[in-house]
Amino acid sequence: SPMGEKLNFDRSAKVIAENSRFVAGGVNSNFRLGMQPGPLVFERGEGPYLFDVDGNRLIDYYCGMGAMVLGHNPLGVRQAVKDQVDRGILFAGQAPIEFEAARIICERIPSAERIRFGSSGSEVAQAAMRLARAATGRRTIVKFEGHYHGWFDNILWSTAPALDVAGPEGAPTAVGGSKGQDPSEAAGLSILGWNDLAAVEARLAKGDVAAVFMEAAMCNQGAISPAPGYLEGVQAACRKHGTLLIFDEVITGFRLGQGGAQKLFGVTPDISIFAKAIANGFPVAAIAGRADLIDMFATGGVLHGGTFNAQPVAMAAMIGTQQGLTGEHHERTSVFGDRLQAGIRDILKEAGIKAQVTGFPLMFHVAFGLEAPARNYREMARSDKKGYSLFALALLQRGVRVLERGAWFVSSEHKDDVVDATLEVVRDAAREVAPK
Ligand code: PMP
Repeated sequence: SPMGEKLNFDRSAKVIAENSRFVAGGVNSNFRLGMQPGPLVFERGEGPYLFDVDGNRLIDYYCGMGAMVLGHNPLGVRQAVKDQVDRGILFAGQAPIEFEAARIICERIPSAERIRFGSSGSEVAQAAMRLARAATGRRTIVKFEGHYHGWFDNILWSTAPALDVAGPEGAPTAVGGSKGQDPSEAAGLSILGWNDLAAVEARLAKGDVAAVFMEAAMCNQGAISPAPGYLEGVQAACRKHGTLLIFDEVITGFRLGQGGAQKLFGVTPDISIFAKAIANGFPVAAIAGRADLIDMFATGGVLHGGTFNAQPVAMAAMIGTQQGLTGEHHERTSVFGDRLQAGIRDILKEAGIKAQVTGFPLMFHVAFGLEAPARNYREMARSDKKGYSLFALALLQRGVRVLERGAWFVSSEHKDDVVDATLEVVRDAAREVAPK
């Protein structure tokens, strides 16, 4: 659309309204509710673009909530899927394709001696917790404020708590994320603030913790790197106290680099979980880790099931994705991501908008109103969310789709020309929301 003229999303609004008679709220995940001007309806995705029912072409930085690391509809993934569909869809048995997929992940991920596949991040998070409890004979899982490991009752605690109910920073209250959640499940968790090594050391010293479960780089509330020495310190404390270290790499895996956060930061967890970018938009998840632990699914009496685990078409998509995720891919795409991030930082500064742009080349976060980069959830929660959501709306109205919570996901299709077009829009949107 010509610059200056705002896009219209009326048709999306109409389709959502009409279909809310059939689908609750017109959406199939609560995370698709609530963004302004309303949930959108798309007809097609191609490269960095989504095309909606109003005829708008949007530069997309949701990237399937982080899944589309190769962009929308890449040829290699499409072809792999078509080939597998011709061979068959579901066998309820093994197929060579799932072993090929497993070998690729075990080669790429430092901690992955063994693996099991599932279909969603939430699901493999459950498998990780069960495994840790079985392996240690302990119940408590340390979970951090602001980290998200899926929507199930036993882990949906303190993912984004309001600060007035979150308790003191040094002793956070477990705050549930949904009505209907079994309140007794909070007893299985110990909630701590992230990036505070002393807090982990003190908690583990009680000797009752099965696992420390964390996003190795905090990507659900901000894009926050671990403080120097933090991951190493947590790992040492875990070893000292017989506690397992679990990395949730659902966002960071195959996005912070081929080997995920664990390779980038050089700390190898006992167990890690993956989903999202592993298969560029197909429902594949994985739990990987030490052979003796993951083998408990086979010989240790720990149940892990799923009709769709290692679904052959999804496995084909995964292999097609991994073939596209070369080291060269990451280097090349990082150049675009870094340039975009630097451009946004400069434009906001010029416009007089106080903001922190932090994170990684292919996943970064823009927080309005902060004087310094946030180091944990409490600091991030003090950002100007309302101000940023107005900026996100101003971007969308000019053809750039970003998450309201501040995250930007970059794919290999967000090349120089797309970055240029994005920065043009960022400039206009910043002008609109800047303090006058
Ligand atoms: N862990 C993390 C770090 C995530 O970001 C998410 C999804 N946003 C999940 C787990 C849950 O994954 P899924 O939505 O595939 O169930």
